[in-house]
This record gives sequence, C-alpha cells and structure tokens, in this order.
Amino acid sequence: MIFDTEVIVVGAGVAGLAAAAALHRDGKACEVLEANNRIGGRAWTDHPASLGGAAFDHGASWLHAAERNKLAELARAHGDTLIETDSDWTRHIRVGNRPATAAELAQYDEAWERTYASAALRASAEPDIAFAEALTKLRGNPWTATVETWEACLIAAADPADFSLLDWRQNELTGTNLNVSGGLGALIARRLAGPVHLATPVSHIDWDRPGGGVSVTTPRGPLTARACIVTVSTGVLAAGRLTFAPALPPQQQAAIAALPMGLLTKVALRIGTADRFGLERGTSLHRQVTPGQPAMFFLALPGGADHLIGFVGGPAAWDLSRAGPAATEAFARAEFAGLLGAAAAATLGGAVVTTWGEDPAFLGAYAYAKPSHAAARAAMDAPLGPLLFAGEAWCTDGLAGTVGGAFNSGERAAAAAIRIASAA
Ligand SMILES: Cc1cc2nc3c(=O)[nH]c(=O)nc-3n(C[C@H](O)[C@H](O)[C@H](O)COP(=O)(O)OP(=O)(O)OC[C@H]3O[C@@H](n4cnc5c(N)ncnc54)[C@H](O)[C@@H]3O)c2cc1C
Repeated sequence: MIFDTEVIVVGAGVAGLAAAAALHRDGKACEVLEANNRIGGRAWTDHPASLGGAAFDHGASWLHAAERNKLAELARAHGDTLIETDSDWTRHIRVGNRPATAAELAQYDEAWERTYASAALRASAEPDIAFAEALTKLRGNPWTATVETWEACLIAAADPADFSLLDWRQNELTGTNLNVSGGLGALIARRLAGPVHLATPVSHIDWDRPGGGVSVTTPRGPLTARACIVTVSTGVLAAGRLTFAPALPPQQQAAIAALPMGLLTKVALRIGTADRFGLERGTSLHRQVTPGQPAMFFLALPGGADHLIGFVGGPAAWDLSRAGPAATEAFARAEFAGLLGAAAAATLGGAVVTTWGEDPAFLGAYAYAKPSHAAARAAMDAPLGPLLFAGEAWCTDGLAGTVGGAFNSGERAAAAAIRIASAA
C-alpha cells in the first residue's frame, strides 16, 4: 500500500508541533494540518494596538512547574530570557470597598491552608468527589469562596461542583512559575516551528481501511498516512467537528465526555495614568468573593507592561462568553471600578478580550475531569490502530491542562507513531 506520507498530525498547537519535531528528528515524513492561519493554538502572543503594541498572550503565559517542564529546558538551551514571577506576587485584596485588614488577610491565609489540607486529605480517599464538596465544612470561613474561585475556576478553569478532586490533586502545579520575555506564544512559534499546512481543517478521519493506515479529509482533498496523531481539544472532539469512521470506541467517547472544556477568559485593560494606581508589577488585585457571585482577579503590570489583565474562569466565564466580548469587557471595567473606584476605572484605556470559548477551533480553554473520572486522561494512552491522540487533556504526567503537558503528550504520541510507521 502506498501512502501520501508516513504520519499526519492534526493541529499545530504545542502538542502537534512537539510531535512533528520528534518525527522529523527520527527522519519520518509527516504533514501537519492546521485549521487556523497561525501556529501555536492556545499558545499565542499578539501585540494589540489597544495595549500600545505590548506583547499579550491570549492563552498560556506561564511555564508552570518549571523544574519538570521540558519547554523551560528548551528555552534555556536556546538562551531565551525566562522571568521568575513568584517573587512579584504582592497582593492588594479588598473586602467590599476597602482594603482587607491585617487580621482579614491572616484569615485568608488560614483559609488557603485549611482548603489545601482538607482537599488533599479527601483526594486520597475513595470515592472521588467534586472539589466543592471537599470544602463543605469550611463554608463558615468568609474566604472559602475566594480560595475556591481561584483554585478551581481560575487555575483549573473548572466548575468546582463538577470537577474531580482527584484530578485537581494529580495535576497540582507545584514548583516555579516562569514568564518568557516577549511572550510564551512567541517562544512556541520560535522554537517549535516547522512546515505546517495552515488554513487546512480536517473534517473526517477514516481509520479502518482495507490497506491499513488512515485517510483524512481536508478542503484540499484527501491525504493518506500510516498513522495519524490528533491533537484537537476535547471541546472540538465533543462537538463532532471532526468525525471518525468507524466511530471512536465507547470507552474513548466516554473519556471525551468526562473531560469537558473549562473556560478561562482574560481581559487586558491599558493603564492610562502615570501613577499606575500605585500598583506594583505582578500585584494580584481582587476582592473577597461573595459566594455565588462572579468575580474577576486582576494581575497588574505583567512583565512591567502598562496594562492589567483580569481573569474570570469556570461557569462565570462561560456565561460571559455566551454574552459576548462587549459584555465581558463591561464586566471587567465594572469589577475594576468596584475595586479601585469609578474614577480610576474611567482612566483605563483600550481592552483586549480573549474568545476561546466561542472559537470553533478550541471551544474552551483547557479540559478538566468530572468527579470519578480522573482516569479518563489515560484513555488515549494506547494507539487505536493507526490513530493516536495527544494534547493537554490526555496527560498523565501531572501537567494536564498546560503547555508542558501538551508538549510531553505530543512527544509520546510521536514515539508511538514512529513504532507504527517503522513496523510497516
Ligand atoms: C486563557 C488561557 C490561559 C492559559 N494559561 C496557561 C498558562 O499560563 N500556562 C500553561 O502551561 N498553560 C496555559 N493554558 C493552557 C495551554 O494553552 C494549553 O494547555 C495548550 O496550549 C494546549 O495545547 P494543545 O496542543 O493540546 O492544543 P491546541 O493549542 O488547542 O492545539 C490544537 C490545534 O488544533 C487546531 N485544530 C482544531 N480543529 C482542527 C481541525 N479540525 N483540523 C486541523 N486543526 C484543527 C487548533 O487550531 C489548534 O491549533 C492556558 C490556556 C488558555 C486558553
């Protein structure tokens, strides 16, 4: 049987680019097919005019768990400038319309400790429960909703009531957090770039052909290969934007449903005043969260730039996403006014609102596991004949949801594809 190429990679995000690089290193012919007209996927640095041309990462911006993140290693090997951000972590926290007192901040710190202790303890017990359920006994603490919003809605982009506690525990991002000078998306584009067919969405994959291998359908016609690595998000898979013949087996379909896309939305707002509201680079600005109410957490002057980035995640982010970018921007400005006053908010300049939830190539920010379904991340470990899956959702290395995990999963799928192609 003659194939057009040895391996097809669907998607040129971090996982797809890492897979293609590994295939090229092994001398395997491969074709990377990307729906968008840019590479990087959810790692994308832009220089919006509304932010005065400053670098802005629409998606990933931190290299988490740098000690075990191969992308940090890769960046260092090429002499890229990595910026340690943990020491910038000052905070400006408000209760209602005033700064939190020292006693309240001590209570906030205690809420963090108690949440971690309670969640870690219950994560080791059977059966697995929802993140929110692990906090039941801590609801009397006025800061519990703040910790929950940060940890589940922002960090995991998840709905705390529908998010596996075990999945949270297994993917806890311990260690150093680094930013990249010029943006993380730019680093990915610089260091992982290779030949990619842009604007080439794959709509269908036939993976049970008489002669073996796969045939994928694109607007440019069909393409055949001995193996195919699919790196699209679980949102894209669940929406059926990519169909398979035969259909994926029930276990894999169930795993896709068990790993829904969470949402994290960023709103960058340009600072128009010289005093920068007295905020320091990297200050975390937010208020005590009222249970049941959406909240935005701001990061001031990231990398020293003259803007703030507001983050909203989980169910509140989905509600805003459905309402549209204008409503999301209005929410961000109102939240900022609630923190530092309407007069300060009126001085803020142009905004950038990220739109991962509605973008058909992603349909969310990153995947989280539903309660009792943390094991779903391993469902794509073994090849389905010539078909392999990679991407942030399918990580079993403790880095699920991150660029570091996507990179590892791409390399792992490439190793399996090399075995398939070499055995032929
Ligand atoms: C707001 C936000 C903040 C984040 N912050 C961080 C962070 O600070 N640190 C961190 O480590 N991670 C962060 N992440 C997560 C990180 O960006 C992702 O985990 C990672 O980039 C996913 O890479 P991937 O290759 O698995 O998927 P993707 O980047 O989604 O790559 C898949 C590719 O497939 C393409 N595609 C889709 N459908 C088709 C099709 N039919 N045919 C062909 N191509 C298709 C897509 O366009 C995309 O390029 C963040 C994500 C978001 C959205």
